[in-house]
Amino acid sequence: MAYKTKEQNKEYARKYREKNKEKMKTYDSKYQKDYHEKHKEKIRKIKQEYRINNPEKVKKGRKNYVEKNKDKVKSRMDANNKIKIPKGQICQKKSCKNLAIQKHHKDYSKPLEVVFLCKECHILEEVK
Ligand SMILES: [Zn+2]
Repeated sequence: MAYKTKEQNKEYARKYREKNKEKMKTYDSKYQKDYHEKHKEKIRKIKQEYRINNPEKVKKGRKNYVEKNKDKVKSRMDANNKIKIPKGQICQKKSCKNLAIQKHHKDYSKPLEVVFLCKECHILEEVK
């Protein structure tokens, strides 16, 4: 590509991103992951400092979450207390053979109805 002006370069980059949306997405998330990995300590420190400097905000945020997700939080607590993942339990997602390590609520109004999922499947379920 023999683009010369800044504008043309920009246009080219825009078109490239448009064409390779999916690729860019994976690239972005991979980049973010790498970034996070590299700056783990720094990010942790920033978060920690934020918590120290804004205890009220953090407290409020947590309270808000619980307030807004009462059912969820309660269901999770109930399940945590009453349901144990059987040893050697395989993920209950169809055709998944991973070991289940997490509990997933399909319906938070039924706290004791959970499916056992592996980490990956659980992430997929939650974003649905
Ligand atoms: Zn699975």
